[in-house]
Amino acid sequence: MAQRPAPYLDDLNPAQRAAVEALDGPVLMLAGAGTGKTKALTSRIVHLLTTGRARPNEILAVTFTNKAAREMKDRVSRMLGGMEGMPWMGTFHSISVKILRRHAELVGLKSNFTILDTDDQIRLLKQLIVAANIDEKRWPARMMAGLIDGWKNRAWTPRAVPAAEAGAFNHRGTEIYEQYQDRLRALNAVDFGDLLLHVLTIFQAHPDVLAQYQRWLPYILVDEYQDTNTAQYMWLRLLAQAHRNICCVGDDDQSIYGWRGAEVGNILRFEKDFPGAAVIRLEQNYRSTEHILSAASGVIAANAGRLGKTLWTEARGGEKVRLIGHWDGEEEARWIGEEVEAMSRGTRGMAPLGLDGMAILVRASHQMRAFEDRFLTIGLPYRVIGGPRFYERLEIRDAMAYFRLAVSPDDDLAFERVVNTPKRGLGDKAQQSIQRTAREAGLPLLEGARALLAQGGLGGKGAGQLRQFVEGVDRWHAATLRGQSHVELAETILDESGYTAMWQNDKTPEAPGRLENLKELVKALEQFENLQGFLEHVALIMDNEQAESGEKVSIMTLHAAKGLEFPAVFLPGWEDGLFPSQRAMDESGLKGLEEERRLAYVGITRAEQVCTISFAANRRVYGQWQSALPSRFVDELPASHVEVLTPPGLHGGGFGAAAPTAMDQRVASADVYNSPGWRRMQGRATARPMAQPREATGIVIDLQAVAKFTEGDRVFNRKFGYGTVQAVEGDKLDVAFDKAGSKKIVASFVVAADQ
Ligand code: ATP
Ligand code: MG
Repeated sequence: MAQRPAPYLDDLNPAQRAAVEALDGPVLMLAGAGTGKTKALTSRIVHLLTTGRARPNEILAVTFTNKAAREMKDRVSRMLGGMEGMPWMGTFHSISVKILRRHAELVGLKSNFTILDTDDQIRLLKQLIVAANIDEKRWPARMMAGLIDGWKNRAWTPRAVPAAEAGAFNHRGTEIYEQYQDRLRALNAVDFGDLLLHVLTIFQAHPDVLAQYQRWLPYILVDEYQDTNTAQYMWLRLLAQAHRNICCVGDDDQSIYGWRGAEVGNILRFEKDFPGAAVIRLEQNYRSTEHILSAASGVIAANAGRLGKTLWTEARGGEKVRLIGHWDGEEEARWIGEEVEAMSRGTRGMAPLGLDGMAILVRASHQMRAFEDRFLTIGLPYRVIGGPRFYERLEIRDAMAYFRLAVSPDDDLAFERVVNTPKRGLGDKAQQSIQRTAREAGLPLLEGARALLAQGGLGGKGAGQLRQFVEGVDRWHAATLRGQSHVELAETILDESGYTAMWQNDKTPEAPGRLENLKELVKALEQFENLQGFLEHVALIMDNEQAESGEKVSIMTLHAAKGLEFPAVFLPGWEDGLFPSQRAMDESGLKGLEEERRLAYVGITRAEQVCTISFAANRRVYGQWQSALPSRFVDELPASHVEVLTPPGLHGGGFGAAAPTAMDQRVASADVYNSPGWRRMQGRATARPMAQPREATGIVIDLQAVAKFTEGDRVFNRKFGYGTVQAVEGDKLDVAFDKAGSKKIVASFVVAADQ
């Protein structure tokens, strides 16, 4: 065999090299973030090819996202420099589709089967639920869809669902599941989960087919292995069990898809199922500076039951992780916008960074809105990765269609979009009647609908609901003419139309996020004078955005950031209840909280040179201020690797000396102290144990020199006004505010006052 030169091997350290050169037999590469797992995996592919061990079509590489697959293809083809043919690289789903199309008849499908989206899936389930005489209000189709997804993630066909699940969906779950699979087959359709499940079924029932694939694909590689679910694991095991040339790379500390059925235990199973596997650990991190790496390690150390590993870097020193608290979310966005601009010019002795090298990683997608609005305002180009931009989201477009109707009831596109969303019993036929009536009379659709109702041209349940809808639009329109507060009106519209309720009743994992986005939309309205002004703003945004190309700062969720790296990373919204999420905090066990902590670890380890963590003391939700405490993860950051920055409002003496502004007074007079959010925060603030002096390990948010405050000091806070310190407890003060009464407050959010 001709030995070609192998420059790609010179770029690897000895452990990576071992993983690359161990071409036969199972290999498990288990290592922390940024240690070059993906690089080693890619080099292994190149090595298989250049040594002539495998032809391109004999290699299967599984990645977690299509984006990751594309990147891996680019890297491989660059390293190969013009060699013919490329290995098969893709996600579990994209690979499964191809296999299933070839063998569809083995599971009773034709090869041109359709793949249902969630909406179709729900519609189908609804029919089955209604036909089975189950009360769909109490047992919604979306709940059933969630169950089915979960079962499919565990590779359970209807017959294989264990007895322990028999009580699911009012004891009818497995029965509906079976009917659903039958219906899909009759429709020549599959859902997303079926793609894997059917392939598994084929492999298990047809050893000849399986053997064929085992022969065809003698080399298998898997990236982000910690996030595979049971079905995916079985799929891999079947394909690899004959030749055992399987190389999996992963990091248990980065397992962040438990909520979707990923089983980090698959890492442990690997060594059992593939005895004699070479387990390779990588310890040198090539991505981040020492401070960043130590901060990340400090946070993840709080998780129990880790496999544990050492990480080090040659990149000594560098910038400490920067931590900054802000007054509210808008200020946080403003500050980050300015920092991005400063970094792109070069700041703090650092070379200028391109916008492509900067990313803002959020816990929840609704956080993106503040950044998008801010960046648009200052003309900072950005892209949203892994999802539509805020104003392009389904629920936002629906809500905006309602607002458009309220402003101009003649807006036919808006009418069409929402007349049957939520469902009002207006099927295609009813909608066609409305359109016909409108067309014949030369009227807008809303008027067409009114005319149709007047003629009695619409029967059944739909008529009543359409009447309600038309009356609703009339009412909302009248309210805009009256000049009713548009923020209030927006909430009214979303409530009265049943749109909010639609998502509240929705049991899919996306529903809570959509509700958050709707709240965020209402929040965005506050900055405008009326609905009309807001709608124009958005229309302009959308237009403006499309033209842009060139370098952009990235905005994405922490989940979408897995595997990526950026010179500068911003991690906003580190507040209890947001990150970790309220749901994880309310859970009884630690599982949810530990997954959130792994997410924090993923976030910090995306940064190469600068990592900036921030939190806001206040977030506005539905026009109400809610106070927040810094995330417990902030406390877990090791103090020696963190630099606490001063919030901009506190520079040079700050607003402590200045008289409260009109806005302060408005805020101070609002009834925030009685809001449930505030009371919850108060409860939590006192309930949180502060046993050990936290200075020893964690960060104390005390740049404003907490120590300076003692009992009896006069202080000022923008929300609560002036007050007197009653007690000092770690980084929190008990303050008796003159007007607002007694509060616990993080010390950095008050300043010394001289009155
Ligand atoms: P993650 O866990 O975040 O997915 P990873 O372990 O897959 O990280 P890579 O993305 O492969 O890490 O590598 C991180 C960075 O380190 C990349 O920029 C990569 O090019 C670089 N790198 C990896 N190995 C080496 C090496 N031996 N020498 C120099 N740079 C390396
Ligand atoms: Mg990687």
